[in-house]
Amino acid sequence: MTLPEEPPRSLRLRLDRMALAANWRALDRLSGEAMAGAAVKADAYGLGVDAVVPALCDAGSRHFFLAHWSEVAAVLEHVAGSAISVLHGVRNAEEAAFAQATGVIPTINSLRQAKLWTESGGGTCHLMVDTGINRLGMALAELGDPLVQSLDVDILMSHLASADEASPQNARQLGLFHQATQQVQAGRLSLANSAGIMLGTDYHFDLTRPGLALYGGIAHPGLAGHIAQVAYPQAAIIQTRQLTAGDSVGYNALWTARQPTRVGTVSIGYADGFLRTMGPGSALQHAGDLLPVLGRVSMDMIVVDLTGSDAEEGDFIDLPGDLPALAQSSGLSQYEILTLMGRRFDRG
Ligand SMILES: *Cc1c(COP(=O)(O)O)cnc(C)c1O
Repeated sequence: MTLPEEPPRSLRLRLDRMALAANWRALDRLSGEAMAGAAVKADAYGLGVDAVVPALCDAGSRHFFLAHWSEVAAVLEHVAGSAISVLHGVRNAEEAAFAQATGVIPTINSLRQAKLWTESGGGTCHLMVDTGINRLGMALAELGDPLVQSLDVDILMSHLASADEASPQNARQLGLFHQATQQVQAGRLSLANSAGIMLGTDYHFDLTRPGLALYGGIAHPGLAGHIAQVAYPQAAIIQTRQLTAGDSVGYNALWTARQPTRVGTVSIGYADGFLRTMGPGSALQHAGDLLPVLGRVSMDMIVVDLTGSDAEEGDFIDLPGDLPALAQSSGLSQYEILTLMGRRFDRG
């Protein structure tokens, strides 16, 4: 038996490529004199590198940031190695050799990483300096080390911890980044993520590194008028049924019908990133009608209220697409909501 190339899927993710390109252009414009790059780690925040990277390339992005070396091959299908950087740097000789072989630029984060990179033959790298997030990056005090001074640094960067709020930490990090720029010879400087772009010109330097906002996330209140929704996930109704008053729905019978209610079982669950915290209070949509989620989210299914809707078995219905609102109601971050969307979505 020959199988079709693409299996039938009851989950699909429509990407608005025009909105994605427009978001990049808006962020590039908001970055002033600086150029915007693009964080495309975690399969472009769950939306799929194969669709996202070519669209961002066409829009004008020339820098693509990943977290893991395992993510490189998919992006190399679309851009040259020199346009890609792996933010986690090189953990061992094998990763350094992989960087050398692919031409992908490692972001060096520690003296140990600087040594590994130099021993592998060295060449162009980026350098991350920690200015207070205390996560990944070299300490300011280490920048004078001869090993660091001998690196061929294209982009010197740091990462903001609190760019999404009006925190005094932003100015503190900016001050420390300026100190770092005095100590390292670099081709270019980069500090801001999506939210950091909204902190103003002082934070822009030569290159910005938006991620979330490219994909429709409102990483900072100031972005609201500039960023459009990109991801439109949908799931199919796989059964409908008529309940009578007193019937309950789902594991542990957390919802009980007070009146006759038509409900639909939808093929999405926590294995697809629709977590249990998203259930209460959220609703799917069909042709403009709101379909509230009833009861507990199962691994592969949810049940929705079809009262007032003409949605039928087999129909696709829309998942909530307003990221800030869904984040608010679920207690999850916009980052989590996007990146959790699982492998069962048709991203084609
Ligand atoms: C993920 C990441 C970004 C993008 O951050 P957003 O908040 O998604 O815009 C930028 N820089 C670094 C170092 C990152 O790890």
